[in-house]
Amino acid sequence: MKYTPRRLKTNVNVTPTSPLKDLVVLVGGLLAIGVGIYVLMGFAVDLIAPRISLGLEKKLAIPFLHTIKKSTTAHKQQPYVQSLIDDLQSRCTDLPYEFKVHIIDSKSVNAAAMPGGHILVYKGLLEQVSSENELVFILAHELGHFAHRDHLRGLGRGLVLLTMSVVLLGSDNLVGDLLSRGVNFTEMGFSRKQEARADTFGLETLQCAYGHVAGATTFFSKMSKGQDSGRWGHYFASHPENRQRIEHLEQLAKDHGYPVGSLTPLPQ
Ligand SMILES: [Zn+2]
Repeated sequence: MKYTPRRLKTNVNVTPTSPLKDLVVLVGGLLAIGVGIYVLMGFAVDLIAPRISLGLEKKLAIPFLHTIKKSTTAHKQQPYVQSLIDDLQSRCTDLPYEFKVHIIDSKSVNAAAMPGGHILVYKGLLEQVSSENELVFILAHELGHFAHRDHLRGLGRGLVLLTMSVVLLGSDNLVGDLLSRGVNFTEMGFSRKQEARADTFGLETLQCAYGHVAGATTFFSKMSKGQDSGRWGHYFASHPENRQRIEHLEQLAKDHGYPVGSLTPLPQ
C-alpha cells in the first residue's frame, strides 16, 4: 500500500500571509525604529550637552587629542596665543576650563573649540590676522562657544554615541577613537543663532580686555573683499551672513557705547 502523507490543515510554522508581505512589514518596522532612534538622538544632543560634567568632558577629549596629535605643531606663536587666552580667563571670563591652545599645521583659516577646553588655532588663521585685537576677538568668540556648550552640541549625534562609548567602555576605547576621527573641526557647523551668541560674547570680552572694541570686525571685512568663503570655516558661511554679523557687532557696540581705540600690533 502506498503511503500518502496527509497534508496538514493547519501549521503554526506557516503563517497564512505571504512571506513577501512579512518581509515588507519587518523591514518597514526596523526602518521606523531606526528613524525613531535617529530623531531621538537629535533631541538627546540638546538634553545631554548642558549636563555633561567637566570630568566626563575631559574623558571625551581623549579620543580627540589622539586624532589631532599628528597635525599639531610646536609653533613659535603657541606660547603667545596661550598667554592671550590665559589673560582673558584671568581678567574677563570665568569659564570652568583650563584652556589649552593647539596650533594646527594647516592652511585653513579657522579656529575651533573642542571638548575639555582644547582650542584649535589653524596656522592659516595666524597668517591672516593683522592685529592682536583681531586675534583676541576670534579667541573670545571660541570661548563663547565653550560658555554656551556649542562645542559639544556641534558634535551632533556623535556626542550621544561618544558619551555612551566613554561611559560604557572608558575613555581609551576604539569606538570613541573612530567617532572622533569622523569629526572635521574645520567644517563643524553651528547655527546662525549660536554664532551670533558667540560673537556677542566675543565683543563683550574684547571690550573687557582692551577697554575698546577695535578689531572686532576687521577679520570679517577681509572676507568681504572677495575671499573664498569655503576657506573660512565657521566664521564666514556666506557673504550676506558675513555682512549681517558685522552689522550685528556694530549695533551691539553702539548700544553698549563701546569705544573704538587703537589696535595693538602683533609681536614681531
Ligand atoms: Zn563660531
